[in-house]
Formats: sequence, structure tokens, C-alpha cells
Amino acid sequence: MADYLISGGTGYVPEDGLTAQQLFANADGLTYNDFLILPGFIDFIADEVDLTSALTRKITLKTPLISSPMDTVTEADMAIAMALMGGIGFIHHNCTPEFQANEVRKVKASTRPVPRKKMRPGRPLLCHPCRLKFEQGFITDPVVLSPSHTVGDVLEAKIRHGFSGIPITETGTMGSKLVGIVTSRDIDFLAEKDHTTLLSEVMTPRNELVVAPAGVTLKEANEILQRSKKGKLPIVNDRDELVAIIARTDLKKNRDYPLASKDSHKQLLCGAAVGTREDDKYRLDLLTQAGADVIVLDSSQGNSVYQIAMVHYIKQKYPHLQVIGGNVVTAAQAKNLIDAGVDGLRVGMGCGSICITQEVMACGRPQGTAVYKVAEYARRFGVPVIADGGIQTVGHVVKALALGASTVMMGSLLAATTEAPGEYFFSDGVRLKKYRGMGSLDAMEKSSSSQKRYFSEGDKVKIAQGVSGSIQDKGSIQKFVPYLIAGIQHGCQDIGARSLSVLRSMMYSGELKFEKRTMSAQIEGGVHGLHSSKAKQNTS
Ligand code: GDP
Ligand code: GDP
Ligand code: 5GP
Repeated sequence: MADYLISGGTGYVPEDGLTAQQLFANADGLTYNDFLILPGFIDFIADEVDLTSALTRKITLKTPLISSPMDTVTEADMAIAMALMGGIGFIHHNCTPEFQANEVRKVKASTRPVPRKKMRPGRPLLCHPCRLKFEQGFITDPVVLSPSHTVGDVLEAKIRHGFSGIPITETGTMGSKLVGIVTSRDIDFLAEKDHTTLLSEVMTPRNELVVAPAGVTLKEANEILQRSKKGKLPIVNDRDELVAIIARTDLKKNRDYPLASKDSHKQLLCGAAVGTREDDKYRLDLLTQAGADVIVLDSSQGNSVYQIAMVHYIKQKYPHLQVIGGNVVTAAQAKNLIDAGVDGLRVGMGCGSICITQEVMACGRPQGTAVYKVAEYARRFGVPVIADGGIQTVGHVVKALALGASTVMMGSLLAATTEAPGEYFFSDGVRLKKYRGMGSLDAMEKSSSSQKRYFSEGDKVKIAQGVSGSIQDKGSIQKFVPYLIAGIQHGCQDIGARSLSVLRSMMYSGELKFEKRTMSAQIEGGVHGLHSSKAKQNTS
């Protein structure tokens, strides 16, 4: 082996470890546990590590984390939380197209995650998509009332839309003269009999209002809002007509969620899964109408004429919609989907925690090898790869990214969080939530979508490709994802990579070194020799 000189150093250091190419040179399939990354040189703090990475050709995320389209993992609450933290969630399709589209709509229209206990039965999580946009900047179509409306009208608006800070104009419409503002503080202590009181009597009048002129920038408007210490800032034109408002809560959200994944309208990004059958075209229409930014074609073996036809169909009908194909585990499978025009690839077959595909179907691939092989091929065409499944620890996330994946998709790791669908239950005093494979018999009883992913339509005998189980309460995504982010940053710091793109180029240049891990090395690397030990992480 060639020796090399570290510049300015004291002498030669023998070459050590394997390049990724060497690690995967022979035919052994490797899992994340079968190798380690050798540490590098640290000259920066972990906080500085930039985790920006591509989800698809056109969508970039600040956090490379994705929640899987599974019915015990991703519905609107999870997708909102993931997007707020800089990742993204894919809404599952084990439900009617209408239900799925409505979940997408909730994400696109969300103001903020609504704590479950505050949600009343019968009241939609969020309503009025055009008004309740996340961190909308200028709200150009706010709810407006007139001085002759009543307190009751404000209360009704609060129930319907979830807010009560309402500008009052002469005619009760936008573009009319601003005459005042009413907020919950003006009406909080009024008795029931006062609900007929006119707003002219309770509103703060125009001459006391702080306003900003039309043409003000968002930054200037935010500064005025901060100085005014009020909840809303009306924006008026030179005829004193109301043209927009901005809200303090949006300012706070920007501060609280600086990584949030947003589209050009500042709405949260949302993905959704579809199958490849004829009736999935209707589902696709509803999802695009609801504003889905990216579609994943959900198949355990994506290299099929059906998927290729679906990619062509989507690209022709919705040219701007990003499409992720999969799942694949070989370059040959990837080639067909890249040729068909996919914007991203989902990699993994049989590595999921709930998955029995490899045992039942004899097909699959250890996930380390699958990620490396597909990513190494797809990068030549600028197609990013999602490492899907088999992520048990934050170390596995780092390894997946170091093997060329741009993002990582998780099921079990995010299941049993507050935002995952389903209720908690207790078993032997442990608080649990259900987690099940989409190819489990349990999931397939719920809807036919799972059957389509894992079975042929006419199959007389159904062979399950997944199992159903439960996972211990992990607390909220709002705490768990920051733990994952910090873990990835520390991993990159140990490696000496300031960003994920540096990490990938270190790997492809051969600078990043790996080592195989024997069984005894794996035992050595885990907790051992203790009488008892505490859980590694408690984020709840
Ligand atoms: P809240 O905290 O959500 O209730 O909303 P605000 O801080 O906007 O409003 C608190 C109180 O101040 C209410 O009585 C509003 O009518 C009033 N208010 C809102 N904007 C202004 C303003 O620009 N100037 C003055 N003087 N009062 C305002
Ligand atoms: P997979 O089982 O993970 O490959 O998921 P798929 O949904 O791609 O395939 C499930 C079964 O349905 C397989 O037998 C496929 O050959 C079949 N299949 C997939 N898409 C279509 C389709 O659009 N039409 C028909 N008739 N069969 C399909
Ligand atoms: P996990 O993060 O739990 O290890 O794996 C989640 C991934 O497993 C999903 O994103 C999906 O690709 C895959 N998956 C979900 N359900 C099933 C199933 O029933 N069978 C198989 N083979 N894979 C599944």
C-alpha cells in the first residue's frame, strides 16, 4: 500500500482503512452494522455542520430526514412536524384518496402543530387553506369585518378559523378604509348577552393603531410589528385602505423553526405516496390539487413496466411535480427509473424493521451495499437517493449519508412519537403505540392500497411481507428530531466533514476511510460488561 505525507507533519503515516470502493469491492452484502467509519480531523464545532441535502432534483431540505409513508407513521401531524424541523413527511396511501388529500391540505395550510388536547371533535385541524398558511409573510386575504358586525361574529370567526385578531374596515372587506382592529383581548370578558354588541363599540379605533404603508418590505414590517408589541400589523395604502396584515405568530414561527421546509409561497412542503394502478391516477389528481410537492411511487420492487408507465404519465400531466421512484437496490433497477425520468430514488428492500420480504420472497439486499451501489450510479445523472429502512440509531443515519444517500427515510425510529398516528396504550406498565409494516396482514385489512404494494390483485393466497408490533413512547418529534440532527452533526464532526456535500465528496474521492466490523467488534462497540445500564437517550 502506498504511504503518503501529511503536509507540514512529522513524517509518513501508513495508509489505513478502506475506501468505500474497496469496502464494497467483493460480493458480500453489508449492513450498517457491518462497518465503521474511521475518524478524521476536527477543526470546527458540531453546530456548524451544514446538513442541507437534496431530496429530489429540485427540492432541497435543510435536514436530511424523512418520515415514511406508513399508516402508523405519517399523517398530517407528523408531516407538519417533520417539515417544521427541516425534513419532510410522506402521507401514506392506506386510506381513501380523499382522506389522503385532506391530510396533504392540512400540511400545506397549517399554521402550527395543534396540540391534540386543544382539538375539538368535529372541528377540522385547520381550515380555510387560503388564509391559514404557515409563515405567510403578508396575509393579503385576511378575514375582515365591519364596525356594524358584532362580537358574536368575531367569536364565530374564532371557532371557524382559529384566530380572532380581525381588522375592521368601513365595508368589512379588503381594499376598504381601515377603521379599527378587534382582538380577543377586546372581547374576552364580555358576557353572553354582549355578543350582539357592535364592533364599533369594542374595537381599538384607527387613530390609535400602528400601521405600515403599502410597499413596506417584510423585514421592515416585522421591525414595526416588534416595536409596536401588538399581535397584528395592518398594512394600508395612501388612501388608508387595508391591503394586508402581518401577524406576530408568524414572526415567532420563523424564529422557532429556522430550518422549516417551505415552498415558494412559504407553505410547508409535503409529500405523498401513490401506487401504480389505474385508480392511482385519480388519487394523484386529488393530491396535486391539495398541493403535494412531491410524490413517491410506493412499491417494494420499483423496476416494473407499471412504474415506468406511471412516471411517464405523471411527467406528462404534471411536468413540475417531483417524482420519486422505487424501491430499488441495484444500479440496473435504478437505470430504468432514471431513464423514465424520476427526480429521486428510494433505496431499500427487505431491510425495514417490520419487514420479512427477504425471508419470504428471497429478494432484497443488505442496506449498506444497496445504498452505496445505487447512489454511486444515480449521482452520475444528478438523481438523489433516499436510504429507506433499517435505520435503528442516529449512527445508522450518518453511515447511510456517508455511503452516498442524500436523505434518510425512517419508520420505526419515528413511530410511537406524539405526532405518529394512533393512540398510546399500556402493556405491562409500558406506554406504547402500534407500529406495523404496510405489507402486514393487519395493514392490509384496513385498505386495499397495501395489498397493491405487496400482492397481485388476483392473488388467492396472500403472503405477508411485514409484521405488526408496538414501540415504546418516544415523546415528541419536536425533541426527537433535534436529537437526531445534533447526532448527525457530531458524527460529521468526528469524520471531519463540515457539510453533507463535503462528506459525500470525501467518500467518492477515497479520503473517507471505512473498516469492516467483525462480530466481536460489534459486541465490543455495544454496551457490554455492565450489570445494568440506562437507555441511551430520553427525549420524551
Ligand atoms: P392579542 O394579544 O392577540 O389580543 O392582540 P394585540 O396585541 O394585537 O391586541 C391587544 C390590544 O391592543 C387589543 O385591545 C387591540 O385592539 C389593541 N391593539 C391592536 N393593535 C393596536 C395598535 O396598533 N395600537 C393600539 N393602541 N392598540 C392596538
Ligand atoms: P410490488 O409488489 O412491491 O412490486 O408493488 P407493485 O404495486 O408494483 O406490484 C404489486 C403487484 O401488482 C405485482 O404483481 C405487479 O406486477 C402488479 N402491478 C403493479 N402495478 C400494476 C398496474 O398498474 N396494473 C396491474 N394490473 N398490476 C400492477
Ligand atoms: P424501518 O425504518 O422501520 O426500519 O423501515 C421502514 C421502511 O420499511 C418503510 O419506509 C418501507 O420502505 C418499508 N416497509 C414498510 N412496511 C413494510 C412491510 O410490510 N414489508 C416490507 N418488506 N417493507 C416495509
